[in-house]
Order: sequence, then C-alpha cells, then structure tokens
Amino acid sequence: MLIDSLEKKQLWEKALAEIELSVSRPNFLTWFQNTNISDCGRDIITLNVPNAFAKDWLSGKYHKIIIKALRALFPAIRNVEYVIVSQPPVSATTSIKYKPAMKISSGEPQLEFEEIYIDKKANLNPRYTFDNFIVGSFNELANAAALAVTKNPGSSYNPLFIYGGTGLGKTHLLQSIGNRILQENPKAKVQYLTSEKFANEYISSVQSGTAPFFKEKYREHDLLIIDDIQFFSGKNKTQEEFFHLFNALYEANKQIVFSSDRSPKAIPELEDRLRSRFEGGMIADISPPEYEARMAILKAKTSQKDIILADEIIDYIAKNIQSNIRELEGALQSIIAQSKLLNKNLNPQEIKELLQKNIKTRKKITIIHLIKTVANYYNISEKDIFEQTRKKQIVVPRQIAMYLLREDFNTSYPYIGEKFGGKDHTTVIHAYEKISNDIKSNEKIRDDIRQIREMIYEKEA
Ligand code: ADP
Ligand code: MG
Repeated sequence: MLIDSLEKKQLWEKALAEIELSVSRPNFLTWFQNTNISDCGRDIITLNVPNAFAKDWLSGKYHKIIIKALRALFPAIRNVEYVIVSQPPVSATTSIKYKPAMKISSGEPQLEFEEIYIDKKANLNPRYTFDNFIVGSFNELANAAALAVTKNPGSSYNPLFIYGGTGLGKTHLLQSIGNRILQENPKAKVQYLTSEKFANEYISSVQSGTAPFFKEKYREHDLLIIDDIQFFSGKNKTQEEFFHLFNALYEANKQIVFSSDRSPKAIPELEDRLRSRFEGGMIADISPPEYEARMAILKAKTSQKDIILADEIIDYIAKNIQSNIRELEGALQSIIAQSKLLNKNLNPQEIKELLQKNIKTRKKITIIHLIKTVANYYNISEKDIFEQTRKKQIVVPRQIAMYLLREDFNTSYPYIGEKFGGKDHTTVIHAYEKISNDIKSNEKIRDDIRQIREMIYEKEA
C-alpha cells in the first residue's frame, strides 16, 4: 500500500481516535503520545514508538486494540511492528483550562514516619521499596512507570506524575524510586519532599533573604521528588519559583517526579504553564484495589509482619475495608495491638468484633449525609438536588448521588427513586448507567467522585 506521510498521519490519527475509546485517559496519554506510523507495507504497518518500554507495553498490552483500530480502516492489515525511534524531548503540550469545582483548603496531614532512621540528606524512608510494593491491576501502570524511571532517569518519562486517592501507595512508590536510584548510584543527588515543605522553605528563604541559596540548592539535584503537589494550589509565588526550577532541571535532563491526589487538570488554582509541564511527561494513576488485590495485599502484609490470620478473617477484612491500603494496614495493626494487649491469640469472633468497632461501616452513613456532601461539593443547596429540573448543574450532582447510593450502599433502584421525589426506577437505572460510563471516559467526573467519596468517608471517621 503506497501512501504518503500526510496520509499516514491521518490514518494514525483516525486509529488513535478509535483506540482512545477503549483505553483510560492516563494510559492513553502515557503510551500513545509520540507514536506514529512510519511505514505501511502490503499487510504490515510499522509504528514508531519512543522507547523500549513503550514498545513492550504497546505490543504486550495494546496490540489487539491497535490491530483492531487499524483493521477497521484497512482490512488487509495483518500485523503491526513496533520500532523504537528516540525523539528529542517534547516541549510541554498545550494545557486545557479547568474551572475548579472546589478549593483545596486542608489536606490530610502527612503521616509521621515510624522509623528513626531516615536518610537525612535525601529525606527517604528505607521502608519504602519496590520489593515490598505489591502490584496489581489497580497500580500496575504507576509501578511500571516508576520502574522505568529508575532504569532511565531523566530521559523518557520526565516528569513522572502519579496521582490517586489517599492511602493508595503514592508516597511509597515515590520513595521507592529514590531509594532504588540511590542504591544503584550512591552518589546521585536525590531529594524527596512534600510540596508544602517546598513552599514553606521558599517563603522563609525569601523572608530571611536567602532565596538565592534556596534556588541553588534545588538546582543541583539529579532526582527531585515532590509529593502531594496539589498543595501548590493557590500558592502563586511558590508556583512561579518552582516553574523556573522545573525548567532548569528539565533542561539539564534531571528527573522530576510528582504525586498528587488528583490529575493535573483537576488541581485548582494552578498556573497553566505549570499544569502543562505536569502534563508534558508521563501521567499514571492508581485506583483503589479491588477485592482480589485487597486479599493479596493482606496476605503479603500478614506474612511480612509474621502473623497468621485465618482465611476467613482475611476475607472479612478485604470485604469490609474497601477504601485504601493504609486502612487495610491499620486493621492488621489493631489486631496485633489487641492481641499483644491481651497477651493471647484472638479468635475469629473477637477479631470481627474488634474490627467492627474500627471499621467505618459505610452503612452508618445516612442518605442525607451523602446528599449533603454531594450538594456541598457542587456548591448547590440540598433542596436543589431534589428539584424537578433538567439544569445541567443540578442533574449531574443528582445522578452522582444516585450512583453513589447504588454503588456504595447497594440501595435498591425503586427506593432511590422514591427518595428522589417519586422518580421511576428506570430513571435511577439510567442515572446509574450514565455515571458508570462517564467514570470510564470522563476524567473530571472520576476526580469529582473520588473527592466526594473521600469527603463522605472522612467525616465518618
Ligand atoms: P499515599 O501516599 O497514596 O496516601 P502511602 O504511600 O502513604 O499512600 O501508602 C499508605 C500505606 O500503605 C503505606 O504504609 C504503604 O507502605 C502501604 N502501601 C500502599 N500501597 C502499597 C502496595 N502496593 N504494596 C504494599 N504496601 C502498600
Ligand atoms: Mg502520601
């Protein structure tokens, strides 16, 4: 098949549009950016990919989707070949404007490290390593990206931006990168810190007239890891300073790694130019682990901690604690503490009673509490949610409230309909299905729901 380069480009764009439908946004951005068709044989298409890692991932995970999309355009195609073509670093992509739905006021306080030994210079906790990081489909992408960065710092995935809800392993993964790099190259200049610490240091350096030293200090690093970058929100001066630091490091091919509790797009009051830097590298999300993954995590953690729990108990914990890994650990910790206290092994009944006290049983949350939280989040009144209206700013929150009642509380469709002013159960089913689909394709909705959930369950604690 003889086609010119413009046609190749158009062909690939069409295929990408198709592929995008079946791949999550972060995955799509990560794996398909910087790919293009370099050659079209009679029945083989050659795809240029930016590096070995992308080649493995595309050929291993997305091959079928790619072939399918290409075949829809050219039925004769039998195979796709992936060829590595390294590219000059791309400048940041154009940014997408985002209107914040809510201001970030307070965040979750940083957990104090339990260990006494922390590498002072790099500020890394040796407890966080890849070796004890459990990988499942919920965090596979983030883990793979983090590993790739340790193999090739400062080259292909720069910056690396990892986001996901609280307690899902972001800090663990970020620090694993630092620890691995230091382990392989003890001379590397590695620094881990939170965005809050960065902001505070910057402000006090300005106040004490030592800002030039501050600037110098951070420009020296080979690997700079900044955790919880969402706290840059609204801090304009810090953002400006950081923007220059970012550019200096980036241009010197130094690796930068971020975490955030939400995607770059969803961070309010963030300068566009900084947002576009965050989006210009590799973005990977971590989602809450599913039941099987929770089982695996609990099994691994019990054996690490040298305790034995009956399968029944592990199953019980995995079924009842769904939100995050920190809470799974918390449950194990309280079992250990209690049995030390009583100086005996607890039987399953005792363990269940103990956990029931601790577990924030979702069932306790009333419908009113859920609706209040959703209304609050979207800045509308509770009454509005029940209003008979088709206004979009009301309909979406209402559908989300219905979705959460169904998804998290297993409430029946007719009952939800009844609560929402005598709506037919088919209306509720429609809302549920609509939001279920939106979650897959719409990053904003996904972020909104994640934050709403955090608000609901936080208050319950
Ligand atoms: P985040 O920074 O996303 O809030 P953390 O990295 O602090 O979460 O993780 C919370 C706790 O759960 C930590 O003790 C961490 O070691 C543990 N943890 C998180 N993810 C994993 C994982 N995939 N495997 C093992 N432990 C994990
Ligand atoms: Mg963290």
